[in-house]
Amino acid sequence: MTTTAVRSSSVELRDIHVSFGTLEVLRGVDLKVPSASTTCVIGPSGSGKSTLLRCVNRLQEPDRGDLLLDGESVIKADPDVLRQRVGMVFQHFNLFPHRTVLDNIVLPLRSVRKLSKEDAAERARTRLAEVGLADKAPYRPAALSGGQQQRVAIARALAMEPEVMLFDEATSALDPELVKGILDLMAELAGRGLTLLVVTHEMGFARRVADEVAFMDGGRIVEHGTPDRIFDEPSSPRLQQFLSQVL
Ligand code: ADP
Ligand code: MG
Repeated sequence: MTTTAVRSSSVELRDIHVSFGTLEVLRGVDLKVPSASTTCVIGPSGSGKSTLLRCVNRLQEPDRGDLLLDGESVIKADPDVLRQRVGMVFQHFNLFPHRTVLDNIVLPLRSVRKLSKEDAAERARTRLAEVGLADKAPYRPAALSGGQQQRVAIARALAMEPEVMLFDEATSALDPELVKGILDLMAELAGRGLTLLVVTHEMGFARRVADEVAFMDGGRIVEHGTPDRIFDEPSSPRLQQFLSQVL
């Protein structure tokens, strides 16, 4: 991948609470991801990981708490502006199925970034080339493998020139042999200096790439520390039990 200079920002969540009816899904989450660093969020299914991530680009509005980007509160900012600064990649790619690969990247650049048709196409082709898919521009997503579709989704997010990227189980829907390529691409983004917040079940990736790991359970961050601390010296019984199941 060609290295492009990036502007990255820190992200901070302060005392974030989210409930769905009587179900308290986030019960006061505090988390800071320093600029140009990677934090992986691990934890059992239903612990609130996706909800936490969705709060960072306000696909989910918290009931209470604050969200800071680069030290400034964006909890009341225009969500569309926030989403230009915070890109997100989903488990199921979320591409437009009836549009070409190129258009999947061009359309948001036109509508959100207001780029001309020519500038949007040029930027989209550059991003596609970066993820090794220059030749797939005219195809529909369904003609691509899952790994290639996820690369398109990553290229689409990168085309917006985000300061932070969120990944929600980006490799969970992929065939096993396609997982490594996407994890390598994510590691490259970390190496480029983007700020990454990554929900993952890939403990090898968390150990190798993350600067910090946060373990969630029951809507709270139970432990937070360096990968060595979290994986080699887990202090809570809940984390010890979780690791014994996944490692
Ligand atoms: P995880 O990503 O860790 O598996 P989620 O954040 O997806 O956890 O979900 C946490 C809990 O919140 C789960 O019990 C889930 O069923 C519930 N939940 C998530 N989204 C909604 C929603 N929109 N409405 C109601 N309940 C939800
Ligand atoms: Mg989830």
